[in-house]
Amino acid sequence: MELFWHRRDLRVADNVGLAAAAGAGDGDTSEDADQGPAAPVFVFDPDVLDHASDVRVRRLLDGLAALREAYRERGSDLIVAHGDPEALLPRLAEVLGAERVVWNRDYSGLARERDAGVRRALDAAGVAREAHHDAVLHDPDAIRTNAGDPYSVYSYYWKKWTDRAKDDPLSAPTGAALAAADRLTDAVDAIDGTDAGDATVADAGVDALPVATVGDLPTPADLGFAEPDADVGPAGTAAARERLSDFLDEAVFAYEAERDYPAEDATSRLSTFLKYGEIGVREAYAATEEAMAEAASDARPDDAPEQVEEFQQQLAWREFYTQVLFHNPEVVTANYKEYEEGIDWRDDPDEIAAWKRGETGYPIVDAGMRQLREEAFMHNRVRMIVASFLTKDLLADWRHGYDHFRERLADHDTANDNGGWQWAASTGTDAQPYFRIFNPMTQGERYDPDAEYITAYVPELRGVEPDLIHEWHELSPTQRANAAPAYPAPIVDHSERREEALAMYKRARGED
Ligand code: FAD
Repeated sequence: MELFWHRRDLRVADNVGLAAAAGAGDGDTSEDADQGPAAPVFVFDPDVLDHASDVRVRRLLDGLAALREAYRERGSDLIVAHGDPEALLPRLAEVLGAERVVWNRDYSGLARERDAGVRRALDAAGVAREAHHDAVLHDPDAIRTNAGDPYSVYSYYWKKWTDRAKDDPLSAPTGAALAAADRLTDAVDAIDGTDAGDATVADAGVDALPVATVGDLPTPADLGFAEPDADVGPAGTAAARERLSDFLDEAVFAYEAERDYPAEDATSRLSTFLKYGEIGVREAYAATEEAMAEAASDARPDDAPEQVEEFQQQLAWREFYTQVLFHNPEVVTANYKEYEEGIDWRDDPDEIAAWKRGETGYPIVDAGMRQLREEAFMHNRVRMIVASFLTKDLLADWRHGYDHFRERLADHDTANDNGGWQWAASTGTDAQPYFRIFNPMTQGERYDPDAEYITAYVPELRGVEPDLIHEWHELSPTQRANAAPAYPAPIVDHSERREEALAMYKRARGED
């Protein structure tokens, strides 16, 4: 028997650790395979919940419900535990008679600290343990410069990433390789209030929640969270596969050409599924390779393979930022690239609040911030625009933006979110140079020419001519009042703020 600890890998298929625990990695799922049935567990860890948000708790619970269903279809179930994994996992292993606890690595700094504690607790309890690389195609140490250093420039990283052989997807374990539901129930019945090293398991529990149950998921309120206002979208492997296959049927062949246009349904919308590990990255990549093979067929335009490759490049960005965070865990709060004199951010609370509400008077910025509020998602081009606006028009520290995204995005991923923000703020690895400052009006005009995206999220501007929307900052108060009386005037003057931002960065560079 093996205990498999799910974390950010809420799926049964293409799951390296689970396949190893179930003895299914080599396709041998027979009952007399070397390794016995796997028992799956998810732990609600109060330390992790301390960093969660309403949106992400809702989305996590939906993902867990789908995972539980996948186990039930296989005659098994999911153990759901509440408390400190250091106390819970050794005790669960004991009551289940599990010889080993297996999990997939999580590369962020906090997760690594937690895992080190769990390793020590398991060692002390005499329970074996095994951690696998699963979340990315190439683990964060696998791709280094010829001098042996981690990469800080994406284009070089990508060259090595794309040339490297990729593992094939793994199949899901069959029912025979999983612990039967009644065996899991017997085990959790035995667990309450028993000793687990220094702490008792009951001590480790979240107040008023059972230490461990089979299949019973808490509500957000049980965990101290509210139902979010945003619609967090579908969850689970089946939904992820459907989204991927729809995208690869058609949209991927125009991905490079259309991915920057937020009104188009031109991107995969896989980020939240990837964040919770509801689809394996080997499976997703293998599907893109099939699309690539199809792209070479006569039926597709000549540039179709490049369009698919552009999509693969985004999967590589995810892995690039994963390795940036792995090698530099301090970037969660610190600038990757420190300026000599430090950046003297303006940080005006009223301006930051208007940005969060989507009431800056810059239509594309406001549309993005409102999409975030409504859908717990924002299109990539618009993320870049709103991040540039916060840092280089409002001159606000990128950490305000990162914290807001962390609270509101369903796909919040420490590595990608931080990478995106530090890119926009010109403090990151491969960042936008400080003097590249997006003009929010021309960005809106170029990427949303008919103001379709803008008016989808900013109802005050519906019925207003796109030309007027894109010239909003140049209109007189009377023109604005006639066109859309409920929509605010720009809270800042972009040209003035651009100059102030340049001066701020120059001072930081010691060029004053
Ligand atoms: P697609 O265009 O279909 O891309 C496919 C996948 O590639 C994505 O699902 C994602 O996993 C990955 N990817 C795409 N672009 C990037 C990128 N620039 N960096 C890293 N990975 C990428 N992405 C997150 O997953 N979580 C975040 O918290 C996050 N925060 C961001 C914050 C800012 C300020 C910026 C500028 C970007 C951020 N991104 C983040 C990257 C990107 O915006 C989203 O991954 C993308 O919009 C998700 O939509 P999609 O799945 O349709 O992407």
